[in-house]
Amino acid sequence: MSVALEPLPFPPYRELGNETLRERIKLAKSELGKSLLILGHHYQQDEVIEHADLNGDSYQLSKLAAESVDCRTIVFCGVHFMAETADILANRPEKLQSRDGQRVTVILPDLSAGCSMADMAGIRQVEAAWKHLGDMIDTSDITPVTYINSAASLKAFCGRHGGIVCTSSNAKAVLEWSFAQRKRVFFFPDQHLGRNTSLKMGITNAEMPVWNPHDDTLGGNTEQAIKQSRVILWKGHCSVHQMFQADHVASFRKNHPGIKILVHPECPQEVNDIADISGSTSKIIETVQNAPAGTKWAIGTELHLVNRLKKEHPEQEIHFLSPLVCMCATMYRIDLAHLCWCLENLVQGAIVNRIVVREDIAKWSLIALERMLAVK
Ligand code: SF4
Repeated sequence: MSVALEPLPFPPYRELGNETLRERIKLAKSELGKSLLILGHHYQQDEVIEHADLNGDSYQLSKLAAESVDCRTIVFCGVHFMAETADILANRPEKLQSRDGQRVTVILPDLSAGCSMADMAGIRQVEAAWKHLGDMIDTSDITPVTYINSAASLKAFCGRHGGIVCTSSNAKAVLEWSFAQRKRVFFFPDQHLGRNTSLKMGITNAEMPVWNPHDDTLGGNTEQAIKQSRVILWKGHCSVHQMFQADHVASFRKNHPGIKILVHPECPQEVNDIADISGSTSKIIETVQNAPAGTKWAIGTELHLVNRLKKEHPEQEIHFLSPLVCMCATMYRIDLAHLCWCLENLVQGAIVNRIVVREDIAKWSLIALERMLAVK
């Protein structure tokens, strides 16, 4: 949950055209100097990435920006929850103290750049589910775990209830930590990451009921299923990774002998189970970087990242796993026009589209994030 700020009307920057926008962005960047960091998520379009000071996944970017000594403004070319995480990490108490209380300003160039997965787990729905579960099982036996792709309010819920945050790189270690604390896990908001990780730990689908927040009858479950559960999965998914299907894998294997299938664990179980490699965005990039020339890949993750890998690795044969266009449409809303607009406002001393996480939410989110950092 962020403090609601009124979005300002967006002037007709798109009419300027990309060449002009590019030049004006460069000029604004040079005027703002080292105090500005533009962060570009791996799924962002190339024309925006060109202006980013740092590229990476959401957690890497927030962490790197928070570590910067000079940075006073972060422009996050990602989605809303990423900007919230950057605000929490860059403005945590010890960082504020080191800057004599001066906050780092975090800007999301287009406030409508949300994440459909994060939106599937609203805090009121989560609190209602927790209460329902409390009627059947002891909630002090449950560790709530949220994927970093979630609203700050949900991270704070996990912090308050002895829970933790995970990324797609450390989900298994986080689940192991969670089971060392308590006997069950409630996993938000991505059922696929929760299921794919738990299956690798020997937990069966029969022990993983899915909680549907839109079904008033025990989230669509029987009381017995909840009592037998080890991991309760929230019924959420990424609209991009959900699109990859087992048929796509079969078709590539048939038409491209020797091809390797590389997918993100946000893909459904039937794709993960038959892929050659499943791993986080960083693992996907590293795997391709380290592969010998001539390796053939069909990759199941966001389109802009796969296209960038194709460009950067002409020595390998890289295909997009789906015949459909699977791209993060909300992240795509951040374009040169919005980037230029917020930078030129900064040059004039005006702040547009600022993301500020409420103090109590930031405090408990940070606790959940710090528990994650302590997990080896
Ligand atoms: S790719 Fe999926 S999980 Fe990632 S920001 Fe877009 S909608 Fe959210």
